[in-house]
Amino acid sequence: MKKKVFMLLALMGLSLSAQADQTVTSPDGKITLDLSIADGKPVYTVAYDGQQLIGQSALGLVTNMGDYSRDLTLGEVKTSEVKDNYLMRNIKTSHVSYEARELTAQLLQRNRPVMTITFRVSNRDVAFRYTILPLRNRGGETLSCVVKEEATAFQLPAEATSFIAPQSKPMTGFARTAPSYETRYGIDEPVGKNGWGNGYTFPCLFKAPAKAADKKSAPKNNWILISETGTDGNYVGCRLLGEEGGRYRIGFPQEEEMNGWGSTTASVALPGNTPWRTITVGPMENIISTTVAWDVVTPKYKASKNYEYGKGTWSWIIGMDSSCNFDEQKRYIDFAAAMGFRSVLVDALWDKQIGYDRIAELSRYGKTKGVGLYLWYNSNGSWNDAPQSPKGIMDNSLKRRQEMKWMQQAGILGIKVDFFGGDKQPMMKLYEEILSDANDYGLLVIFHGCTLPRGWERMFPNYAASEAILASENLHFSQGFCDNEARDCGAMYPFTRNVVGSMDFGGSALNKFYNADNQRGSRRVTSDVYALATAVIFQSAVQHFALAPNNLTDAPAWAIDFLKEVPTTWDEVKFIDGYPGSYLIMARRSGDKWYVAGLNATDQPIKQKLELPMFDGTVKLYMQNQQSEVKLNKKKLLPIEIPTNGGVVITQ
Ligand code: CA
Repeated sequence: MKKKVFMLLALMGLSLSAQADQTVTSPDGKITLDLSIADGKPVYTVAYDGQQLIGQSALGLVTNMGDYSRDLTLGEVKTSEVKDNYLMRNIKTSHVSYEARELTAQLLQRNRPVMTITFRVSNRDVAFRYTILPLRNRGGETLSCVVKEEATAFQLPAEATSFIAPQSKPMTGFARTAPSYETRYGIDEPVGKNGWGNGYTFPCLFKAPAKAADKKSAPKNNWILISETGTDGNYVGCRLLGEEGGRYRIGFPQEEEMNGWGSTTASVALPGNTPWRTITVGPMENIISTTVAWDVVTPKYKASKNYEYGKGTWSWIIGMDSSCNFDEQKRYIDFAAAMGFRSVLVDALWDKQIGYDRIAELSRYGKTKGVGLYLWYNSNGSWNDAPQSPKGIMDNSLKRRQEMKWMQQAGILGIKVDFFGGDKQPMMKLYEEILSDANDYGLLVIFHGCTLPRGWERMFPNYAASEAILASENLHFSQGFCDNEARDCGAMYPFTRNVVGSMDFGGSALNKFYNADNQRGSRRVTSDVYALATAVIFQSAVQHFALAPNNLTDAPAWAIDFLKEVPTTWDEVKFIDGYPGSYLIMARRSGDKWYVAGLNATDQPIKQKLELPMFDGTVKLYMQNQQSEVKLNKKKLLPIEIPTNGGVVITQ
């Protein structure tokens, strides 16, 4: 009898506490996540170091089974510890040790469990996702569900400022190919807007001024990076919609994407998970070094071979469409061989201007020089007007697999697929199917004119990189873009886009002009050292640099030598100093070799004394358009100066 009473009390205790706030803290105690139910609506807050960074914000989904954002009560709540160690050669950090506290809360509607929310709180991040549960009904069980929208919101502090890129209006831009995540980031803008009326692309960075610890110390900023990860063919790609007062919420794809075809909703088999919503918080080093995009996802298949990453070059960025001919590609293969690079990317129109047989011949020729080929494809299809060929292959599983079989026989290394059609679920499925088919034929995959990769380096072992940014092609197209290259690209993408995924920028040009004769066209205003710095700062395990054969004779030998040896895979990253849109100094380690790289987008030189504990003895210093050897003093302090539009690199 006594035992029964005790158990009853324990049960009551559980249900009582279940209605109260649920709090989880990160293993180091700095991040606090709070979940509660307010008026039947699930809500959460996130604080870092005592400062509330996400105010009370809505959770929930609206589905065709019911509105799971209201009339809810808290059911069973479980907490646990998550520990994972994983190895990845193609992200910012090779050996990741992930530790988080997990809270899983069941939500009931009319006393039936309809959904669970799982939160994971690590030392840098909060990640959460929904699991929609089957419902028992008279006829059996409901096992399929359409998610119409999400209630998930993020209430930023009113004084926060934003560093975010507007989502484009669909079916606009070149050949109606938007949205393709190619818009300029705003810098330090107040919250409360909605971009061009269509919200913002992930990831979205915000700054929240923090109160000074005491009267003597200067106030520091806390940063908030909101994104999503784990998205595949089982959901839609989302964006962030801005509302008044600093409230943002998850937006689904827009009706007009894919030329208006396909639903904006997500179709989910039950029980089924949504992708993870991620919030990285704290000082800037947390943002730069976060691995949350990969921490909470798992591989979807095994690599069919040991994929090798590395450097390459491409003629299109300097020579455009007319350079896509046999002789020029052969010249680029010779150039790549001279640089010790492993690939040449053959861009659009090769099917017409070179042909399949002669591509196979080029591939054989490259093999004798240790250089492989990546081939460009149009993803289309029927979703936009991009006319470049080869097209009508990658959107069709029969043709795609036949083509990939041919590529495997011809010894092709990988593909670059361009001009996708937005974020609706059929398009997310296409990304997944191209990746998994390519793995069957041993091909690496680069996406261009595309959506943000969301954990794909880990989910798809043959995924190489994505554009999903205003990239180097715009330097060729526009002098205005060249003039603002340091501000809009070098000093912005490492804080935002590149934080959550490999970025195929296609840069590090040493030509003075974006033209094959290097005499006219858009003029590069960034320095040669800036080009070296971005080779370190822009992270992608496969890098196709915007170099040209003439650079062997017209660029400084120290710059060419540096690009010959700079790695593309990294073991560790360290943020040293910087501010989005202004300047950046960071360090990456590959094996036991460190590279410290900086760049400056302000109109004043950046002068600093860098503390360099990672080096011993003499270092190689690339600064002020020359390379020198410098012996470090005992304190390992090195004065540096980065000119406007310039860079600095220190290595050993
Ligand atoms: Ca593009």
